[in-house]
Amino acid sequence: MKFTHESLPQRVVFDSYAAADHVAAEVERLGARRPMLVSTGTSIELEGAVRHTEVVMHVPVEVAERARSSAASHGVDVLVAVGGGSTTGLAKAVALTTGLPIIAVPTTYAGSEATAVWGLTEGGRKTTGTDPRVLPRVVVYDASLTLSLPVPLSVASGLNAVAHGVDSMWAPRADPINRAFALESIRALNAGLPRVFDHPSDVEGRENLLYGAYLAAVAFASAGSGLHHKVCHVLGGMFNLPHAPTHAVVLPYVTALNEFAAPALAPAFGAPTALEGLLRLANRLDAPRSLRELGLREADLPAAADGVLAAVPGNNPAPVDGARLATLLHDAWEGKDPR
Ligand code: NAD
Repeated sequence: MKFTHESLPQRVVFDSYAAADHVAAEVERLGARRPMLVSTGTSIELEGAVRHTEVVMHVPVEVAERARSSAASHGVDVLVAVGGGSTTGLAKAVALTTGLPIIAVPTTYAGSEATAVWGLTEGGRKTTGTDPRVLPRVVVYDASLTLSLPVPLSVASGLNAVAHGVDSMWAPRADPINRAFALESIRALNAGLPRVFDHPSDVEGRENLLYGAYLAAVAFASAGSGLHHKVCHVLGGMFNLPHAPTHAVVLPYVTALNEFAAPALAPAFGAPTALEGLLRLANRLDAPRSLRELGLREADLPAAADGVLAAVPGNNPAPVDGARLATLLHDAWEGKDPR
């Protein structure tokens, strides 16, 4: 065994129905006095906080600028982000230029709270980067805040977390530590997703998803983007396909290709093979099956294959060439059985 692993420094508090109290205590622990509460919709009560409610997906630069000026003019000394990846993303954009600490209270399973990756869009173009200043200092998980997340969004967000976990098994910096996180994330998500699908107002199922989403994001932040994420980023970027459903469609095909190199995945899904486990889960949750139904045209497949080929990680377990990718993408487009 030989590896170099870096763990990100972060305090994690997990306690349902108690976010407001924990956040107040964490603000005090950081020695802060003037929090800015960044949230829309689902939120918490926080005494003495400046509220910022303008949150836009993919963090347009203008929106980030307004939040930064508001933080400066109010003498804010800590950012409290209550929301999904878009809300956490806005707090990260403010932290990037100000160095303010973030307390993240996630209300979806996107996992942005566990990474040091920021993203901003300017004139329709997205830029991303990694900076330790944007990693939330504290994450407060309160599953009761996710009870209002509608079932289709919960499923999409949860499957996105599954993709973080699975792809971490063969990503460029995969190592025994991030693989251990990834496998435990899959066990938790595989148990939680059907439960949330059947009983969306049961907090225990939601707790499984938040716990799994956190572990998956930690694994992904450490292991990097594997083949699956490369395929999805190319499809999303070139053809503006919806993010979460694209993940749900593509993951089984990449798993069929690479799972020989990750035998521990199958038992994590409780299935004879990882592919079988993934397909059972997707069927159970009525997940989308094909890129065609997401609006991709067959004529776009060659350009997509070229785009992905340029991004394939050098250490992907299965050898991947243009022909292999063309087949994978065509199968995913048709929704062909990947077995
Ligand atoms: P989101 O934050 O845009 O939320 C999706 C929708 O759900 C919004 O309309 C939101 O208001 C609503 N919502 C959120 N929580 C809710 C709740 N509990 N109840 C009811 N409605 C709720 O989407 P997301 O999937 O959480 O995040 C996606 C964004 O995060 C993308 O921009 C993505 O690029 C980014 N992201 C970044 C990282 C990273 O590491 N930097 C990781 C994952 C995602």
